Order: sequence, then structure tokens, then C-alpha cells
Amino acid sequence: MKIAVIGLGVLGAGAARSLALMGAEVTVYEQHFATAGTTSTSFAWTNSHNKNPRSYHDLNAAGMAEHAALAQQPGDAPAWLVRNGNLEWADDAAADEHLAASVDELLARSYPVRWITPKQARELVPDLRVPSHVERIAHYPDEGHVFPALLVSRLWGEARDLGARLRCPAKVTGLTETATGVRVELADGHHAEADAVVIAAGRWTEGLTAAAGHRVPMADPDAAGSATVGLLGYTNPLPTRLDRVLTTPRLNVRPDGAGRLIVQGLDLDADADPAAPPAVDGHHADELCRRLNGLLDGTEGARLESLRVGRRALPADGLTVAGFLGDSSRMYTLATHSGITLGPLLGRLAAQELLTGSSENLLADFRPGRLIGRTGLPTLRPARFAGQQ
Ligand SMILES: Cc1cc2nc3c(=O)[nH]c(=O)nc-3n(C[C@H](O)[C@H](O)[C@H](O)COP(=O)(O)OP(=O)(O)OC[C@H]3O[C@@H](n4cnc5c(N)ncnc54)[C@H](O)[C@@H]3O)c2cc1C
Repeated sequence: MKIAVIGLGVLGAGAARSLALMGAEVTVYEQHFATAGTTSTSFAWTNSHNKNPRSYHDLNAAGMAEHAALAQQPGDAPAWLVRNGNLEWADDAAADEHLAASVDELLARSYPVRWITPKQARELVPDLRVPSHVERIAHYPDEGHVFPALLVSRLWGEARDLGARLRCPAKVTGLTETATGVRVELADGHHAEADAVVIAAGRWTEGLTAAAGHRVPMADPDAAGSATVGLLGYTNPLPTRLDRVLTTPRLNVRPDGAGRLIVQGLDLDADADPAAPPAVDGHHADELCRRLNGLLDGTEGARLESLRVGRRALPADGLTVAGFLGDSSRMYTLATHSGITLGPLLGRLAAQELLTGSSENLLADFRPGRLIGRTGLPTLRPARFAGQQ
């Protein structure tokens, strides 16, 4: 079967790999370059925190398990997954209540989490500074973080080894179902034919599905201060001992390789505006570095090498979209937030549904039909708790 995949972020790479492994002839169309979209601006923490309804939690938990299984399989790419866990605490009564409720919910769902003391936390992260009034810390041993470019190198590298081709730069401007498949129209005036198409166009999904006659509404990726936008600071290399994710009251941090860290203060996202990114040496950068100094020894002299405004690919109801655009359609759409956690899993499930005609239970609640053509959906609330980002 000839399958066209549109977009080479983590979802397109995951779909291309799984389709190629199952014997499909895959061509990927990418308008800019691999990881040009949201995949290159992600906190990239693999988790299933604060994911509701239950089916969305289960999907994310399965996404984490898929990463673990993939990391066990031999592959030629550099290590993309660090599965050293996450530490989280709260610093006032209301936040502690919220965290305790979240931990209880996760325990009821048999998700690995336990309370530890600040002393135990420092045994895991020797440079950690925990405020003296904090008595308990939630430890999530199975969580981790991903280096997104290396994950895509694994997924797309294997697809390429199996014969998948990339057309780039190649912007898809239209998709039309024909008697035998789908006609893929390109901005340069050329067109191609495929038996089926996977749309993995991230925050561009609404425009492309609209052009195909089945508009899947997405939250506006450009709206300043909205749920879609988030600041990420990338530090200089720092001699601090951190090998895992920290989600703390004022700062989320993860290693980004070679001593660099990625820092995120969710309250600061209220000022995130893709049209006017904050200066790398301005107030937001200073504040992120100040919070980092308070959190980890060895971060004196921290500065940001870049401060980016990430734009989430967020279906309009906040949940994953995975499935065909209609009952007899040959156009399959994947669009989701938490796409780093979900990419390898969604790629495999999509390939199975496309090539075998199966219907995967994990995806039952996430079909595009619930959203196609809908307008006036309530505005999504911005991420202010760990796991929403
Ligand atoms: C601030 C922030 C923090 C995040 N934190 C996390 C986290 O901790 N954990 C987590 O799991 N997820 C997180 N995410 C979400 C995650 O990064 C995304 O869900 C994921 O990267 C989306 O991948 P994608 O492949 O769908 O989209 P993208 O990476 O955007 O890829 C889509 C690709 O399609 C191409 N394209 C679009 N339209 C066309 C067209 N017409 N023709 C050809 N090519 C086209 C684009 O150029 C792009 O390369 C975060 C996101 C942000 C912004």
C-alpha cells in the first residue's frame, strides 16, 4: 500500500516508522524540515499526570509503556529516553491539597507514585534545594524525559532504512479522495497519488483538514497567553547534578544534554506571545534563572541561551484526535497535545488501523468525528499545573 504522511514531527515520524515496518510504501511530505514544528519546542516529559477522562490517562500511560518497550529494542539511534523519574512538591496548603488529590487519583489508577522525604529526594538529586517547610515529595519512578530530535532520529531513521522517502520542502495544499485513493496537491503545483493519507500536521491540522473538506477544529496556536502557548528557557551548560525531571511550585526543569537545562515557569506563560517572544536577557529570563538558582546548587552563573515560545498542537476539546475523517475515508488524522509521550504509540496504532482495518480500543474515545465541523467550543484554560503543559 502507498501511504502519504503529511508532517515530520514526532507523530509523522512515529507513523512513518510503523507503516514502513508493516510493509507500506511510505512518502512523507514536510513543508519546512524534520522537527520544524512543536516537536522542537517541548518540555518533553513522559507522564500521565492530570490526564482526564480516564481513557485519556490510559492512553498516556500506554504511551509511556510504548517508549519503554521501544527503548528495549535494539536500534542504531543515540539514546533518546531518560527514564529516571520525576520529583514534585507543593509549597502552600491549596497546592498541597491539589497535589495530594492528584497522587490519590494516580494511586487508584495503579500509576507508580510514592511519597518520599526531602532527605530521600536529595539522595536522588544531591544538588536539590527543598524549602524547609516542605515535608513530603511525590516521586514518580517510571516517568522520564525525551530528547525530541533524537527520538525523531530513531523513528524516522528506521523508516528511512526501510525505504520511506521524504519530500521536503513540500507543502501540501489540498487532499481529495478519488475512486482509488487520495490525490495529494502540493504548493509547487505538482500532485501525487496515494492509497491513503496520514495527516500529522500538528498545529496546522485545522487548515489542512478544512482543505480536505473535514475541518478538525484546533485551539488557536497564536493566541497570546492562551492554553496553546508556553515559554521554554534553554540554559547554558551548568555543573549541577540533575538527571531527571523536577516539577516544583515555581519551576519545572529537565536536563537537555551536556549540562544544559530546559526551564519552565507555568505562571509566566500568561505573558507568552508568539508575535513578541521575550528577550533572552529580559525580565522573564532573569526570573527563570533566579528560580533555578533557588532550586539547584551549581547553577550560579546560569543564563538562557534561548527563550522560546512553544505553540501546542491542541485539538479544540484538549484531547487526542486519532482516526479516519469519515466512515469510508482514506484520510487518517493524528493530532494531539502530549505528542512526545504519545508519538510512538499513536504511530503504531494508526498503522495497525490503516493497514489491517482493525479498530484499537485505546483510541475509541478519540475519533475525529466528535469534533469535525464544530464551532463555538469553549476556550481551553491555560496549563497551570504540572501535567497540563
Ligand atoms: C511548551 C510546550 C511544552 C510541552 N511539553 C510536553 C511534555 O512535557 N510532554 C509531552 O508529551 N508533550 C509536550 N508538549 C507537546 C508536544 O511537544 C507536541 O504534542 C508534539 O511535539 C506534537 O508533534 P506533532 O508531530 O503533532 O507536531 P509538529 O512537531 O508541529 O509537526 C508537524 C509537522 O507538520 C508539518 N506540516 C504542517 N502542515 C503541513 C503541510 N500542509 N504540508 C507539509 N507539512 C506540513 C510542519 O512543518 C511540522 O514539521 C509540549 C508542547 C509545548 C508547546
